[in-house]
Amino acid sequence: MLDNVKKSYPRPGLTPLNVLGGLDVEVEEGALLSILGPSGCGKSTLLNIINGLDDATSGTVTLAGKTVTTKTRSDVKIGVVFQQPRLLNWRSVADNVALPLRELGLPHDEIQFRVHKYLDLVGLSEFAAYYPLQLSGGMQQRVSLARGLAIEPNLLLADEPFSALDEFSARKLRQEFVRIWDQTGTTILFVTHSIREAVFLSTRMLVITARPTHTYLDLTVDVPHPRKPEDDRLFELEKSVTHDFMRMEEQAEQEKERVGAL
Ligand code: ADP
Ligand code: MG
Repeated sequence: MLDNVKKSYPRPGLTPLNVLGGLDVEVEEGALLSILGPSGCGKSTLLNIINGLDDATSGTVTLAGKTVTTKTRSDVKIGVVFQQPRLLNWRSVADNVALPLRELGLPHDEIQFRVHKYLDLVGLSEFAAYYPLQLSGGMQQRVSLARGLAIEPNLLLADEPFSALDEFSARKLRQEFVRIWDQTGTTILFVTHSIREAVFLSTRMLVITARPTHTYLDLTVDVPHPRKPEDDRLFELEKSVTHDFMRMEEQAEQEKERVGAL
C-alpha cells in the first residue's frame, strides 16, 4: 500500500522540512492497524496522502491496485474520523450523517436507512433530531464516527479520534469502536500518540519515529478481541512498547547531537 513514501514541505528561505522519510507498509484487509508516533512526526500528513488530499514528494500509495494521488483516485471508498468531530452545528445529527450519503448520490430511502442504522450502531438513535451543540463531546464524536461509517467505507482513516475526549468517554468509545470494527469488517488505519490506546485496539501496531519518519517497530498484537483494558498481556505489551519508544526518542536525541556536532 505504501512504497517508500516520502514527504517534505518547502520552507521559505530554509531547506525543506523532511516529514516522511520513506515509509513502506502493506496493510492486510480487515486489519485494525495503529500508527503510533510522536506529535508532529507526520501522522496526519500520511493520512492526507492516503486519502488523496495531498501528494507524496516521492514513492507511491496504492489502494486496491491503483495509485492514489490528488489527481487520481482509487475505487476504494475511504471514511474519515478526526480528532475534532467537525460537524455542521446548524444541521441536525441525522442531517450530518446524511450529507456525505447525498454526495454519493444514494436514493432517499437508502439514505434514511443508513442514517438510522449507523446512528443506532453508535448508540444515538434517540438523538437523530438533536443539533450537535446539544450533545456532549463524546456524543458528537460518535456522530462523526457514524458519518464516517455510513458511507460503508472499505478503509477507515481515524486520526486520533479519541484524544480530545475525557478518559471515561474515550474508554467507552474505544470499546464500541472495536465492536463496530468487528461487525463491519472494515480495514482501519488508526493514528494515535497513545501507546495504551494502540495496544488495546490494534491487531497490528506500527511505531514510527520523529521526523523524518520511518518505521521503528512493526508488531502484531496477538490478543483476541474483545479485550479487557486490564488484561495482563496488554499491560506487558504496553510496558515493552513504552520501553522501545523511550529508546527510540533517546536515539533521536543522540542523532540530533551527532548531526549538530558535525
Ligand atoms: P502529526 O499528525 O504527526 O502530529 P502532522 O502530519 O500534522 O503531524 O505534521 C508533521 C509536520 O509537517 C509538522 O512539523 C507540521 O508543521 C508540518 N506540516 C504539516 N502540514 C503542513 C503543510 N501543509 N505545510 C507545511 N508544513 C506542514
Ligand atoms: Mg495529527
